[in-house]
Amino acid sequence: MALLSKRVQQIGTENAFKIGPYINEVAATGRKVIRCNLGEPDFPLPPHIREEVKRQLDNDMTHYVDPQGMLPLREAIAADMGARRGLDITPDRVVVFPGGKPPIGFSQEVYCDPGDEVIYPSPGFPIYESFTTYLGLKPVPLHLDEQKGFAFGGDDLAPLITPRTKLIILNFPSNPTGGVATRMQLESIAEAILAKAPADVRIYSDEIYENILFDGSRHFSIASLPGMAARTIIASGASKSYSWTGGRIGWAVLPTAEEALMFKTLNINYFSCISGYNQMGAKLAIESPESRPAIERMVHAFQERRDHVVSGLNSIAGIRCQVPKGAFYVFPNIAGLCEQLGAIELCEGLPATVRPKTSPSTLVQMFLLFRHGVATLDRRAFGVIGAEGRHFLRISVATALDDLEEGMQRIRAASRDRDGFVAFVREGRRLF
Ligand code: PMP
Repeated sequence: MALLSKRVQQIGTENAFKIGPYINEVAATGRKVIRCNLGEPDFPLPPHIREEVKRQLDNDMTHYVDPQGMLPLREAIAADMGARRGLDITPDRVVVFPGGKPPIGFSQEVYCDPGDEVIYPSPGFPIYESFTTYLGLKPVPLHLDEQKGFAFGGDDLAPLITPRTKLIILNFPSNPTGGVATRMQLESIAEAILAKAPADVRIYSDEIYENILFDGSRHFSIASLPGMAARTIIASGASKSYSWTGGRIGWAVLPTAEEALMFKTLNINYFSCISGYNQMGAKLAIESPESRPAIERMVHAFQERRDHVVSGLNSIAGIRCQVPKGAFYVFPNIAGLCEQLGAIELCEGLPATVRPKTSPSTLVQMFLLFRHGVATLDRRAFGVIGAEGRHFLRISVATALDDLEEGMQRIRAASRDRDGFVAFVREGRRLF
């Protein structure tokens, strides 16, 4: 009998974390690695939030608290999420989680039975796809088109909706592409959903990057459109907005209080509750007038870095990079680079045991890390199904500008190092 269940062997992962040991391996040789892999703002936690967390620790806020999330925090979330979306949200529909990830898997557990279909963007946050296979659901990737700025409309979504569809995942601003749907695109998505999907199909709108928008644009949620609030789970959190990935505070607004109770039950089963001192810090973060300027400073820096990185990448032969409208990633097309380096043929010639685990952009990713000291992520890190023949990298701009400049230089050097690339692949040690 096998030690591990069939189910757990189906779960994927988030490579942004998985390549950590590889980075350490390179760093241990004394080489500085430019880390463009993690989706983590490089700003410190704003001082007013930090002070509040300390104060709450001193207040003895160190015991079990409400598994649904502390009422004062849920009230703050309901008021803020509602006001900015023109919705009336009550705290009994809000559930708090350790970060923005748990509600992704929980939604699939709460709404779907084996064989049910989940539509999700690809490239997209890898946890969407990872959970479908883990839970025996049918993954239905919606492939995003570079020509459409990695957004999509109702015409792209409608053909994927079938009688087995139970969950439709949206993510704007998007990881890894930085794509943001226009209001018109969201209206056509909503129209397709209202026309084709029954009322019990849930929309999971992952809005964790809602505050990271460039060029003065403002966030718009699909839940704000007529008829959509009753079907939409709106998810967000503190990790990106307040540069607080270590706080592990995320939340979701459910269409009904009954649904929220199911998520609360899962919370009780999995982790009981989240630290009270961090929850009270998150309440202050949401309500304090000091938070908005802190967010604006961070977004301003991301936008400046985005502009540097996009123009740097576009000046490298074989790389074509769009200007993202939000989040803190750029997602260059490296098809030309793969050809220049010979990655496509080299990949095809790999042994059958290795071939399914890698791709031309994976080989480039590994080469950039091990030979040129730049950590990026390949296309496969954002959904494996249907990733063949699509050659992209994700580069996080949540890294200091000097380091990003150095990173661009290293990528340029790598793009001219065909011999080094061929030798690296032939050596065969780090191909995925
Ligand atoms: N959703 C998306 C789209 C993300 O990019 C991330 C983090 N990279 C999360 C959810 C999870 O965020 P957290 O760190 O709060 O778990």
